[in-house]
Amino acid sequence: PLIFGIETSCDDTGCAIVDGRGNLLSESLHCQNLIHLRNGGIIPDVAQDLHRRYIELTVEDTLKKANLSMDDITALAVTLQPGLPLSLAVGMKYAKHLARKFNKPFIPIHHMEAHALVSRMQHNIPFPYLTLLISGGHCLLAIVQDINQFKLLGESLDSAPGEVFDKVSRRLKLRNVPEYSKMSGGQAIEASASKASDPHCFKLPLPLANYKDCNFSFNGLKTSTLLHLHRKEKEHNIEGDELIPEVSDLCAALLMAVTRHLVHRTQRAIEFCKQRKLIPETEGRLVVSGGVACNNFIFKNLTILCNEMEYDIFRPDPKLCTDNGVMIAWNGLEKWRGGVDIVTDLNSLDIKAVSPLGDYNADTLD
Ligand code: ATP
Ligand code: FE
Repeated sequence: PLIFGIETSCDDTGCAIVDGRGNLLSESLHCQNLIHLRNGGIIPDVAQDLHRRYIELTVEDTLKKANLSMDDITALAVTLQPGLPLSLAVGMKYAKHLARKFNKPFIPIHHMEAHALVSRMQHNIPFPYLTLLISGGHCLLAIVQDINQFKLLGESLDSAPGEVFDKVSRRLKLRNVPEYSKMSGGQAIEASASKASDPHCFKLPLPLANYKDCNFSFNGLKTSTLLHLHRKEKEHNIEGDELIPEVSDLCAALLMAVTRHLVHRTQRAIEFCKQRKLIPETEGRLVVSGGVACNNFIFKNLTILCNEMEYDIFRPDPKLCTDNGVMIAWNGLEKWRGGVDIVTDLNSLDIKAVSPLGDYNADTLD
């Protein structure tokens, strides 16, 4: 089979084709990041307009790169949830149009499941495994039991780590530094943090330190960071476009605090899996994914934890951590192989803005 993946859940229009062996034949990605950086955040109408403008081009480009036509494709795999409704709708409508025109089966994809499974394309990772998904809209720990079977252990009670990095980066005015101007908030904070001299001069709390569950909370870290920033701006009489001199130290302090929290909760999850024997003792595996998984400081510290807990750790290549069409095509292929969620009645399909992991299964569809 040849599976064509389409992703439009947020601000990237992504397509890809994978073959039956899981080889990537081609991909195409149109990122809206620079436009949204200029606007100071994603405006859903703007994102939708850009998806509309680029969806056909991205599909065509992907087919052209693989030297294929839509007739050669076996099935379409398309992100329908969760995400920005206006963005998701563009992918769904265009994919339904293609499915009708070329008479192709449709495989609905859950964006976070695709983040959780794409590592299997590059590494041989059998089920079950523990996954930590850290991105712009989510932070969660789950056990991946099968392609469409997930057990959620914990999630963020407020914002997501990528969202905090993006907001803080904006308030720190990192975009005014030419070398950071084209980076996402998380990338800019990582780059600036690497130049820190005294990150310990800023004190940030460890969230939910006294709770023994696997949930996360990042709003406290965000607020404390912004308070430090405000205090420093007053101290230095800073207004307008200027950055505080301690900007790198503050970035490092935030990155360290976020990392400690992630490591702390992941340790809880591993202990929980061991206690309840949810993952066999000798087969402990942690898969980290989502855009924030690109962060090398975070990954390094999770690796230290996993070494101590005797877990293997994996993450996809950075360009498969952030949003892309490849993970959608890959998830489509895994579902095709397993015969799950292959839909021919297009009317039964719709988008969903919020949706827990494992929400789609064959029983509820078609
Ligand atoms: P979700 O997957 O939850 O719907 P999303 O699709 O918008 O959210 P992703 O594309 O998976 O999120 O990830 C984007 C996020 O990753 C952004 O918030 C960005 O700041 C963050 N990010 C990217 N690179 C890094 C990095 N090196 N360090 C930290 N954060 C990063
Ligand atoms: Fe994502």
